[in-house]
Formats: sequence, C-alpha cells, structure tokens
Amino acid sequence: MLDQIFSYSEMCNAEKQTLQKGMNFRINPHYSLILMSRRTNAPYRDKILNDGVTIEYEGHDEPRTSHEINPKELDQPRNTRNGKLTQNGYFINAVERYKISQSIPELVKAYEKILPGVWSLKGFFNLIDYKTQFDGRRTVFVFILKLSENQSVNHANHKLYIDIEHTRLIPTEVKKEVWQRDKGRCVLCTSNKNLHFDHDLPFSRGGTSLTAKNIRLLCAKCNLKKSDKIE
Ligand SMILES: [Zn+2]
Repeated sequence: MLDQIFSYSEMCNAEKQTLQKGMNFRINPHYSLILMSRRTNAPYRDKILNDGVTIEYEGHDEPRTSHEINPKELDQPRNTRNGKLTQNGYFINAVERYKISQSIPELVKAYEKILPGVWSLKGFFNLIDYKTQFDGRRTVFVFILKLSENQSVNHANHKLYIDIEHTRLIPTEVKKEVWQRDKGRCVLCTSNKNLHFDHDLPFSRGGTSLTAKNIRLLCAKCNLKKSDKIE
C-alpha cells in the first residue's frame, strides 16, 4: 500500500532480503528497488516534479576506496574499473532499452527513509529517463521515475491500480513532520502497528499533499472504518 510505514526489518522481510544498497537493479524477477534517503555528508532531497507524480533520483557515487579520494569529487561512474556495469550503468541501460524499443519501462519500487528506523513505501515507478547533471563539482546521474498506474506486481489477478490524475506524492519532509507531530501512532486509536500516511482529505476532493495539515498517521483498522464511511 502506498505510504505504508515499515521498520527496517519489516522492510527487509517484505523484500525477502537484507537491503544495504540504495540502488538494486532487478532485486527480483519482477522489479528493481531503490532506497531514498538523505545522504550523510550532502543533504539530498528527493525532488518531486510539479506534476506531483514524477521524482528525480540521484545516481550513486564511486565507492570510497581510500581516505584521500572523496567520492563526492568524482563523476558518478557508469562502469567499474574492471569494466562491469555499476548500478548506475544497469539503470541507464534499462532506460536506453526502453527508449529504443519502446518496450515496457523498468518497474522500480521505492522506499524512503523518514527517520532512522522509519521507512515508507513511496510506490512503484516506471523508469522513463535519465540525464547527466553538473552539480558544481562533478557530473552526476539523475534518474526520472514516474509513478506507475499499477501498484502491485505479485498477484496478477489482484492488481492495484491508482488514478494517476488524482494522486500526488507526499514529500519526505512532510512525512517526517507528520510522523513527529503524531508521535508514531494512529491519531484515532493510538496503535503503533500497520501505520501509513493518510490523506485526511483526499487529493481528489481538494486535499493537498504539500503540507502536513492534510496528512495524518492512521492504522490499517481505522483506515478500513474510514473507507466504509466514505463509500
Ligand atoms: Zn487506528
């Protein structure tokens, strides 16, 4: 479910593996996976474009191999020194395959770190493009991901489709503010289990995702009660 909240171990359990890298090309036969979080030495904010459903995700640096060379001074690599593809390289190749053959874009599942130990599912995205960008010191890759209409891959018969026109991604900063304001608990019953970030007033009814005012923490049980009322 979009905007569902996980602990780190719950997230690893959901993906059936220990997640350590930010970019994971084809972590399983169905999709690739990215972890979005702010860098320790260079605050990185995931950028949501004005359409509300497209994100820009920065590629990955050269691994740190010595104390003398700061990876932040080096161009982000497409290949390793041995000529193999880096994760950047795999993602770039997927974009190029998609553009050349007009095949189905690579499906990328994104989780974002809200606070230490608090992760949230940003959703499934189509990897549609990339660009290179000079960040003032070196060249980095920026991947363009658009929220997929299909938000489920595992159950062919139970696909969850969302209405892209009426969906807006909640910025990470807003989620952080909501988590802290609501103290990590459901605002209706104070449960700390099965939480997600809930649009108090859905975007389709004029609610905005851009401020914490319209977002709250809700547990799965209270969410069910809420949807009963709306229908
Ligand atoms: Zn509740």
